[in-house]
Amino acid sequence: MSLDLSIVIPVYNEEFNLSELYDRLKTVLVSLGLSYEILFVDDGSRDNSLKVLEEIAHKDPTLKVITFRRNFGQTAAMSAGFDLAQGDVVITMDSDLQNDPADIPKLLAKLAEGYDLVSGWRAKRQDGFLLRRLPSVLANRLIGWITGVKLHDFGCTLKAYRCDVAKNIRLYGEMHRFIPALAHLIGARIVELEVQHHPRTRGQSKYGISRTPRVLLDLITIKFLMSYSTRPIQIFGFTGLISGFLGFVICAYLSLSKLLFPSERTSLNERMPMLLLGVFLIVIGIQFITMGLLGELIVRTYHESQNKPIYVIRSIIGGTMEDTDCRSKISA
Ligand code: UDP
Ligand code: MG
Repeated sequence: MSLDLSIVIPVYNEEFNLSELYDRLKTVLVSLGLSYEILFVDDGSRDNSLKVLEEIAHKDPTLKVITFRRNFGQTAAMSAGFDLAQGDVVITMDSDLQNDPADIPKLLAKLAEGYDLVSGWRAKRQDGFLLRRLPSVLANRLIGWITGVKLHDFGCTLKAYRCDVAKNIRLYGEMHRFIPALAHLIGARIVELEVQHHPRTRGQSKYGISRTPRVLLDLITIKFLMSYSTRPIQIFGFTGLISGFLGFVICAYLSLSKLLFPSERTSLNERMPMLLLGVFLIVIGIQFITMGLLGELIVRTYHESQNKPIYVIRSIIGGTMEDTDCRSKISA
């Protein structure tokens, strides 16, 4: 890596925020005395954001503007930034001035204490209570409970990453909200740091309460990735075994009672639900086990097709990281 710092900023229709953000960011970066680049990722903005960014980029060679062909979403924008970043440390922040560039030195100092990811905590969040802050508190609790990564604020974009972490997190869908959980998955040392938050003064928020079910579905994916992604047969197969066993017990009971008491006449009405249930449970059980086996095949394809190991090395004592050709290393 040739630079100390990469600032990654997703932009979607923020034309009136960009020049002030740039000015404030620049003041902070210059005062740090580090080498840096600013990566603005224009996520298919339909206003004049791109024009504003181009004008700034003409004057400032430390600026790079990555332009998407259409709006791919904040996750994709951050992911592009991670892929192109050349800094040893990557910092992400919003482009709407709700995050404060003045917090960057604090984040860097915390990272230098030996962490791999410093996550901003908007302790005094300046968004509406009912539709934004309350759902967010509940979501953060739920995410913490399910993933085991206890943070107050997963959703704050202002975060600092060691480049290995940034480059090793694979983001899909709207997974930017779960970055700390994904980082935890590769063994990153994570800490939370209180940061400032300002109300949005220009432009509009891109999110509302409608994201709730999507976040819940993503959470299921994350839980699966964290617990069973390398051993799918254990979750599917286990469920299948239980279901198949219950079905077997029911069917065995029905068959036995038929054999032992052939003359006893029970109405069809009475027995059919049990028979149906038994057969269903057996079929579902077989399907679950088959799904688990397919999952096992997919996991192998996933890892072997991209030479992706199932472990992540932090460092090698008595050797160098070059001893391994894997991309998945985290240096301290
Ligand atoms: N953003 C983006 N693509 C999108 C939606 C949002 O790049 O499809 C950017 C947006 O420009 C902002 C950041 O992501 O810099 C956070 O968006 P927003 O401020 O609307 O979210 P909120 O702060 O209301 O949660
Ligand atoms: Mg915002």
